[in-house]
Amino acid sequence: MKTCPLCAALETPGKLTPLAKLGECDVFLNDKQGCLGWCVLVLREHVEHMDAMTLERQARVFGEVALAARALRQHFGPVRINYECLGNQVHHVHWHVIPRHADDPDPKNAIWGWPAERLAGAMSDEARASLAAALKAGLMNVAAATARARE
Ligand SMILES: [Zn+2]
Repeated sequence: MKTCPLCAALETPGKLTPLAKLGECDVFLNDKQGCLGWCVLVLREHVEHMDAMTLERQARVFGEVALAARALRQHFGPVRINYECLGNQVHHVHWHVIPRHADDPDPKNAIWGWPAERLAGAMSDEARASLAAALKAGLMNVAAATARARE
């Protein structure tokens, strides 16, 4: 039994809603959807700190974070994207990529102080599956376009 909850979740299919496997990270639709489209990128290897990786690897990870942000912007056209790598509660490198929409009730602040109910959002299983499918397709399109741009 892994003690790190993200390592354990990576090994437990169905625990998280997977959207894409990128070079360094797996992308998931976050359980909480207080901001519609909130994604989490989880480094596949257990590393506690961004700075513990080589600069090249840090750049690859951040490139994947930006790829997810681009897919979210293309899908939603949100006002802002919040990029958060905190690690206060789970000591495994992961990035929250959080679209902040035009109807955001508290657009000037980070979401972490929101009431639990607002943070969780309300979404049916069908809506969640539909959003996950759309974001999967969006991530694949952006990944393909990014790969073509490198050729
Ligand atoms: Zn871990």
